[in-house]
Amino acid sequence: MNIAFIGLGNMGAPMARNLVAAGHTVTGYDTAATPEGLTLAETAAGAARDAEVVITMLPNGAILRRVAADVIPAMAPGAALLDCSTVDVDSARAVAEQADAAGLLALDAPVSGGIGGAEAGTLTFMVGGSDAALKKAQPLLDIMGGRTVHCGPSGNGQAAKICNNMILGATMAVTCEAFALADKLGLDRQAMYDVASTSSGQSWSLTTYCPAPGVGPTSPSDNGYQPGFAAELMAKDLGLAQQAARAVGAVTPMGDAALSEYTTFVDAEDGRGRDFSALLPRLSDKS
Ligand code: NAD
Repeated sequence: MNIAFIGLGNMGAPMARNLVAAGHTVTGYDTAATPEGLTLAETAAGAARDAEVVITMLPNGAILRRVAADVIPAMAPGAALLDCSTVDVDSARAVAEQADAAGLLALDAPVSGGIGGAEAGTLTFMVGGSDAALKKAQPLLDIMGGRTVHCGPSGNGQAAKICNNMILGATMAVTCEAFALADKLGLDRQAMYDVASTSSGQSWSLTTYCPAPGVGPTSPSDNGYQPGFAAELMAKDLGLAQQAARAVGAVTPMGDAALSEYTTFVDAEDGRGRDFSALLPRLSDKS
């Protein structure tokens, strides 16, 4: 297949390389990055012109809208626009509508699995869009990822992503608070873990990605809180969740509290570039 790949950063470059390794012809475009091993075009529209599928992996919805305005008029009828970025639901739906009006197929397919999953081709895709669009994209999703969940019409992939990450941000924040409280109460961290990991306090944040070093399976806390999943990306996703909640009148005070916690950590403290589980050393002196 002829594929255009726009946005070749930490995630996009390894995803594009996996498509090349599987035998597809990939033409990339990025305003700044020049990753090795990929053929690059001069413009986004130039990359998109002969592509059967145009994949985007961009920082946010405003940039996605600008790139979509460039590439949609250049794409051949029947081609598919596959956005894998994490963006706001409104931008995902607006871009899908423009693509549809131009006779194109469109999918929002944000991912979980991070840079490791992008490199290994084991990402999970949360997909919004039509069955026809998914059928066209599925062979590519199967190369870049291990699992695809069709969540409904356009925008529903982004909706699933931000709902999941709102749970993740809130559970990680409160798991860090629980360890810090345990420290101050004189409760050993391993004992706290042994109880909570097999009791009703159990969550992915505790048992798969434990924020306390030396406790539970190996996680970024055992590596000086190098990301992993950076705190600023968590702040971004929690911000998208609150933006969506305001738009539809959903009441999400826990998600809002988690956003405020991560925003303070990233903007006012030393959180940028640290893993999102590094809320724990911020709350407790114990290392
Ligand atoms: P990144 O900043 O490394 O890459 C984004 C790339 O887009 C950059 O290379 C940038 O130069 C390029 N870009 C910006 N404007 C552009 C334009 N107009 N045209 C073409 N290229 C342009 O970010 P990333 O970590 O690769 O993340 C990409 C997306 O994936 C984001 O939406 C992020 O939220 C999401 N995501 C990231 C992770 C992660 O662990 N990094 C995990 C899941 C989802």
